[in-house]
Amino acid sequence: MAEYDYDLLVIGAGPGGYVAAIRAAQLGLKTACAEGRETLGGTCLNVGCIPSKALLHGSEKFEEARNGTFDKYGIKTGAVELDLARMQGQKADSVKQLTGGIEFLFKKNKVTWLKGYATFEDPHTVTVAGEKVTARNVLIATGSSVTPLPGVSVDNDAGVIVDSTGALALDRVPEHLVVIGGGVIGLELGSVWRRLGAKVTVVEFLDQLLPGMDGDVRKEAAKIFKKQGMDIRLGTKVTAVSVNGGKATLTTEPAKGGEASTIEADCVLVAIGRRPNTEGLGLEKIGLEVNARGQIETDHDFATKVPGVWAVGDVIPGPMLAHKAEDEGIAVAENIAGLTGIVNHDVIPGVVYTMPEFAGVGLTEEAARERGEIKVGKFPMLANSRAKTNHEPDGFVKVISDAKTDRVLGVWCIASVAGTMIAQAAQAMEFGATSEDIAYTCHAHPTHSEALKEAAMAVTGKPIHI
Ligand code: FAD
Ligand code: NAD
Repeated sequence: MAEYDYDLLVIGAGPGGYVAAIRAAQLGLKTACAEGRETLGGTCLNVGCIPSKALLHGSEKFEEARNGTFDKYGIKTGAVELDLARMQGQKADSVKQLTGGIEFLFKKNKVTWLKGYATFEDPHTVTVAGEKVTARNVLIATGSSVTPLPGVSVDNDAGVIVDSTGALALDRVPEHLVVIGGGVIGLELGSVWRRLGAKVTVVEFLDQLLPGMDGDVRKEAAKIFKKQGMDIRLGTKVTAVSVNGGKATLTTEPAKGGEASTIEADCVLVAIGRRPNTEGLGLEKIGLEVNARGQIETDHDFATKVPGVWAVGDVIPGPMLAHKAEDEGIAVAENIAGLTGIVNHDVIPGVVYTMPEFAGVGLTEEAARERGEIKVGKFPMLANSRAKTNHEPDGFVKVISDAKTDRVLGVWCIASVAGTMIAQAAQAMEFGATSEDIAYTCHAHPTHSEALKEAAMAVTGKPIHI
């Protein structure tokens, strides 16, 4: 009889966990994955990346049809109406197809889905739905959940104070949506509801939106979202929220202190970050402690300090991104199987899927300057022929390289397709490219990506079209 039931037991079927399980099975390991949700795919497929992008895409089409954007192309539209139930329906359909797709992949790769929440008994034994299961290796990929705002109670069913899950499921367009937190979720979901007709106010504690992004990008973001009609209140904190008869009253104050004021809203989205899921896992039973941010620390192989226990994704340090979790999932499975799995955490792209999109990879200009001498090349989308032809004037591309070696340290991009453009920057950086390498790579014309080539040319002061 085998010593353990499985070679690998993965806890959590989000992008970190399900990808690790599939790769481990591909590598010949007997693999199971415990997931407590009704469907596989984790936050990303169920209440994150996929449903938010479905609503972003649908609301973008609605805004284009309604706001006369089509008129620019000589397309006349009649009265445009929103069928929100149908828009929510197409979102649900995408989620259903993709979560079902993971179930299919589990069956195809012979990964056993253990339905239920898992708790450690010891490093090689876990209880799932009342059954004890043993494994030579256990991977924690339990992801993250919404960070609560002290004193503010989210009630997604009532729909007045909601978190991202509630904001993805609203069955009405709010009259006034106040978003607490000007980060990725606040701006993506704020954009959805603004496009569908809500007045949107964003209250951000810091003096700029989108923490973690390049300073120029953050400044430009505030300008662009204001131009689109959002009321952006930077350097402002929410001190209290009360609900009365389906309406919320928010009390705000300048972050640095000062006079309080109030905002009335019929919907409030709390989007102040996410925190790792470790509660109820029984980490104390295996002697595994979390750090001050509640994360599980690992080494470069994604091994925790408890032999046989590994961790990836939102539950460990680093950006909370699906593609980071996926790459870690592949790497950890390869390491468990005795191969060498590596993730280069210096080259993880990040994208905000608004219109335009905001994207970046590598160091910000501020961080690069702190490290040493740099050169910076910038190119505006206004001077890019394709962006201009498509009536998409907002944005720029910025390439930051090391002053001595010319090696690219970071690329930042605001453009309608910045999320797609940033892939080539990430690949170039992964291959150790210089700005000259990008500048001398032939880019198809007319494409938005030519702006990246020109920004790379601008590093040495020689772009053509500006
Ligand atoms: P998760 O996806 O959170 O999955 C963890 C799973 O573990 C969950 O299904 C949970 O039910 C399960 N679980 C937890 N505890 C247990 C247990 N004890 N036993 C069994 N199962 C358990 N990232 C992007 O890169 N791009 C985007 O566009 C994007 N959009 C987002 C939009 C929103 C609204 C949100 C909230 C997030 C978004 N993210 C996006 C972030 C992305 O969803 C996460 O980074 C990603 O899902 C993390 O993957 P994970 O596998 O670590 O965890
Ligand atoms: P975030 O960290 O991106 O932004 C939270 C914002 O809230 C910050 O700007 C912060 O300064 C602000 N804030 C914190 N406390 C506040 C307070 N009391 N009052 C006002 N503002 C306050 O977090 P998020 O937007 O909640 O997203 C959570 C995670 O989900 C992020 O780590 C992100 O990586 C991930 N995500 C990614 C995508 C994407 O890749 N497109 C989309 C959605 C979510």
